[in-house]
Amino acid sequence: NFKYPQSEKTFKIVLAGDAAVGKSSFLLRLCKNEFRGNTSATLGVDFQMKTLIVDGERTVLQLWDTAGQERFRSIAKSYFRRADGVLLLYDITCEKSFLNVREWVDMIEDSTNENIPIMLVGNKADLRNKASQEIQKSVPTSYGEKLAMTYNALFCETSAKDGSNIIEAVLHLAREVRKRL
Ligand code: GDP
Repeated sequence: NFKYPQSEKTFKIVLAGDAAVGKSSFLLRLCKNEFRGNTSATLGVDFQMKTLIVDGERTVLQLWDTAGQERFRSIAKSYFRRADGVLLLYDITCEKSFLNVREWVDMIEDSTNENIPIMLVGNKADLRNKASQEIQKSVPTSYGEKLAMTYNALFCETSAKDGSNIIEAVLHLAREVRKRL
């Protein structure tokens, strides 16, 4: 019984968000299932590939990190051109990174013509479980949910450290990208 090879789709996904929210760590967890406590510098790569089965179809994701160039608006903007989806990260223990989400959304919308799917990701969720003052300082889940709703974005909280929700976040975004194609 001959079967045609499955058609394979490639999606370009860009990781956005302030420095130190965990973009490189997110990619490292997703692609190598590793975590490094101190990733002072970026991994020095432009993108990583990850193949997933999305709705029964082999899907290749080309995941672009803004590679420490978040500060340079013009460079960051160029990453969003031709992007099929965006993973927009903030750090739940860093309010500033949450407040800056708006700026990132503006930049994404400036750089792309279409309404591309955005997954808002509250990273470092493992730190909320810590019995420390960080509990009071962290951005509540409901704030993330509400913000995502105002941008018609998807939302989840992840931990690159313990791996929770990383694959789920990417799968969910990839499904949304497929839907809008
Ligand atoms: P980037 O600048 O956005 O790429 O951030 P990095 O991936 O370099 O991460 C910045 C720092 O946060 C590093 O010290 C990471 O080890 C740490 N980090 C990243 N993700 C997590 C996480 O989910 N939980 C915890 N506890 N630390 C994290």
